Amino acid sequence: MLVLSGGTGTPKLLGGLRQLVPDEDITVVVNTAEDLWVSGNLVCPDIDTVTYLFAGLLDTDKWWGIAQDTYHTHEALTSAGHDEVLRLGDRDRGTHIMRSEFIRQGASLTEAIERTARMLGAGANILPMCDEPVSSMITTDSGTMHFQDFWVGQRGKPEVLGVEYQGAENTTITDAIRQAVEREDNIIIGPSNPITSIGPILAVKGMIELIGSKHVVAVSPIIGCEPVSGPAGKLMSACGCEVSSRGVAQCYEGLLDVFVVDERDGLGLRDVGDMGVAVVSADTMMTSAGKSKALAEVVMEQLV
Ligand code: GDP
Repeated sequence: MLVLSGGTGTPKLLGGLRQLVPDEDITVVVNTAEDLWVSGNLVCPDIDTVTYLFAGLLDTDKWWGIAQDTYHTHEALTSAGHDEVLRLGDRDRGTHIMRSEFIRQGASLTEAIERTARMLGAGANILPMCDEPVSSMITTDSGTMHFQDFWVGQRGKPEVLGVEYQGAENTTITDAIRQAVEREDNIIIGPSNPITSIGPILAVKGMIELIGSKHVVAVSPIIGCEPVSGPAGKLMSACGCEVSSRGVAQCYEGLLDVFVVDERDGLGLRDVGDMGVAVVSADTMMTSAGKSKALAEVVMEQLV
């Protein structure tokens, strides 16, 4: 099973899928366009969330960081006058230090993430979308900034004028992703932000061609005309997309075979069906492990 993921919605679905399928049989291709060097170490927010999920460490109240982590290092740095854009936990920072050490020793991002995941006890095959650096840059009325500066630093407040995947033109498909995709009949696009989580993965050169020949099942992250959480609505509007399941389907135009939309979303259901994609409705609001499992079962029924 191969799943494209960001760092919140899809990890909730992965929590359900891993109740049905052994971790070793799950490959997750994860967005890295929100990655950032902080105080000397590479933070990969979406990779970290997926890794902690499979290692049983994730703080599932926030859907980022390690449960019951402490913040002594961040507080010491802040009180000494060293600002950090992200409030990093101490154990979480340990992950970043290990990963960055591997990179400083010459490992590729794929190798560094694989070694770190293994050391933390995550059994799934967790792959970055590419080895080259890519950044989601948000153009706003206060200037162009990295996604983390927009979302965390500025609390998502500036008006968004556009989004660009800086560095995407220099990417290539990694051997690990090519081999993983070749083994699969199905690709699952989880309920993640289509602009800053799935968009960068699809912007990796050759990715659409690679996965387009497979049976692609996506889950909508939008219910009605609102995302469940996060800035997807604001970013979709700025990119000229309608904030609805139909808008999400349009972001993935030509790629989808089946689209799972929320059962509360009657209008989205009819509209997306008109686009020639098989539409399935389900309760997509994953507020518990049981609800994640139920949605995962619906997704698995759509696989060929
Ligand atoms: P990010 O990397 O933290 O931005 O996380 P993702 O892109 O993976 O997830 C953010 C998206 O997940 C948002 O657009 C939310 O609407 C969506 N999302 C979060 N929780 C749920 C849920 O329970 N159900 C559905 N359908 N979408 C969700």
